[in-house]
Amino acid sequence: MIVMKFGGSSVANAERIRHVADIVRSRLERKPVLVLSAMGDTTDHLLEAGNDAYRKGIVSIGRIEKLHHTTMKALKFSAAARKNINPLLEELRSLLVGISLIRELTPRTTDYLVSFGERLSVRIVAAWLNSVRIKAEAFDSWQVGFVSDSGYQSAELIRESWNLIPEKIIPLTEAGLVPVVTGFIARDVNSNITTLGRGGSDLSATMIAASCGADEAQVWKDVDGILTADPRIVKDARPVETVTYDEASEMAYFGAQVLHPRAMQPCMKTGTPVLVKNSYNPEAPGTRIIPSLEKKAPVRTITSRRNVTLVDIVSTRMLGQYGFLAEVFSAFARRSLSVDMVATSEVSVSLTLDAAHDLTELKKDLSRIASVEIRTGRAIVTIIGNVRRSSEILARAFRTCQIIGVPVQMVSQGASKVNISFIVDDVEAAEVVRALHLDFFSSLDIREKKPAAAPAGKKAPPAAAKARQGLPRKESS
Ligand code: ASP
Ligand code: MG
Repeated sequence: MIVMKFGGSSVANAERIRHVADIVRSRLERKPVLVLSAMGDTTDHLLEAGNDAYRKGIVSIGRIEKLHHTTMKALKFSAAARKNINPLLEELRSLLVGISLIRELTPRTTDYLVSFGERLSVRIVAAWLNSVRIKAEAFDSWQVGFVSDSGYQSAELIRESWNLIPEKIIPLTEAGLVPVVTGFIARDVNSNITTLGRGGSDLSATMIAASCGADEAQVWKDVDGILTADPRIVKDARPVETVTYDEASEMAYFGAQVLHPRAMQPCMKTGTPVLVKNSYNPEAPGTRIIPSLEKKAPVRTITSRRNVTLVDIVSTRMLGQYGFLAEVFSAFARRSLSVDMVATSEVSVSLTLDAAHDLTELKKDLSRIASVEIRTGRAIVTIIGNVRRSSEILARAFRTCQIIGVPVQMVSQGASKVNISFIVDDVEAAEVVRALHLDFFSSLDIREKKPAAAPAGKKAPPAAAKARQGLPRKESS
C-alpha cells in the first residue's frame, strides 16, 4: 500500500484533478490511499468568510461556491454526482448565516467551518475517479479512524487512532477500492470536528502510512522534491535524492520547501519512508526522506534567511555570576520576541531575530545587566548535512567565505548537529550561498564519477580545489 497526499494546488481546479486521476491510475497496483487538502486557497477563503460573518454580519461565500460549482461543471458531473456535494455547500451557508446572526466565532466553530474545504474536495475527486472508472470512495477522516483530542486548531491524534485507522483502511484497499480521505481534520471523542493545524494534511497522510504499515507516504507538491538550494539564488540547484528525518526537520525550520516537522513524526516512529514528489513532473524521482543514510555526501542543502537582526549582549557584571542567560532570555520572553540563533560565551551572548521587531524597550531592559549592540541587515546562512562530518563542513564553509572575502559574524551548530548556521551581511548572503553550493555540490559530482581514485586518508581532493578556483574572487579590504 502507498499513501498519496495531494495539497491544495494539486487539486486546485478541474484540470489539476484530471491530472491527479492520471497519476493515481498509473499506481493502482500499489493500492493507493489518497489524502487531500481543500481545493486551492479554499481554507483561507473559509477563514475570511467566517471573519466577514462574525465581524460584519455578512455571508460571503461566492468565491467558494463558484470554485466548486465551476469544477463540477468542467468535470461534467451528473445530478447524481452533485447530490453528495451540494448539501455540504448548503450546510456551509447555514453555518455562516448562524455565525453572522449570533456574531460568535469560537475555535471549535472555526474548525467546523474550515472542515468544509477538505470535505468538499474529497467528494469531488472521488466522484471524478469513479467517472473515469477508478473505484474510489470519499471518507471524512473520522470514518476511517481519526480521533483527536479537543485542542481545536491544532489538535493531536489520540493513541487509539494507531489501531482504528488500519482497521478501517486496510479492508478497503484489500477490496480494490481507493479511499479518498480528508486531510487536516479529525473529530474528538464528543464528535466535534477538530483540525490538526495549518498544513495538517501532511500529518494525516503520514499517520495513515505509518499506522497501516504502508510502503511509503508520498507527498505530492509543485516542486521536484527538496532542492540543494533556493533556485532563485542558485541557478543549478537540483533535487536532493535522499535526506534523513532529522535533516528534513531542520530544513522545515529554515524555510526550505518540505513538510512540517510534526508531520514526519508518525513515519519516524515506524521508519516509513516519506517521498516528496512533483505533481507537475510525476516522472522526476523526487526526494526520499528516510531514517538514516549510510554513505552520503557531507551536505544536503544550503538555505538562507534574509533580513535578520543580530543582538550582541555582553554582561557588565562579574565573571561567573549565575542567572545572566536566564535574565537575558526572560527579557526576550516578556516582549514575546522569538529568537532564532544563539551563541554564548561566559560573559556574552549573541542572538538573532527577524528584523520586524522594535527593540528599543528590550535594549532598555537589558542595559541594567549588559551592554547591548543591535546590528540590522544581516542574514542567516544554514548548511544542513551529515552529523559526523561537521568539522569538514565548517572548514570548507569558512575557507569558502575567506576566499570570497566575506567575514562570518557568528556561528552556531544546532543540538541536532545536522545544521550549521552562520551570520553574514544581508547583501552578501546570495553570494555566499552560491559559493558554498559551488564548493559542496560541484566537487561532489566530480568526485562521485571516480570514487576509488583518491588514496585513503588524503584530504581536500583536487576536485574540491578545482571547484574553488571557479569561485568569484573579491578584493579583500
Ligand atoms: N487545507 C489546510 C490548509 O490550508 C490543510 C492543508 O492544506 O494541509 O492549511
Ligand atoms: Mg491548503
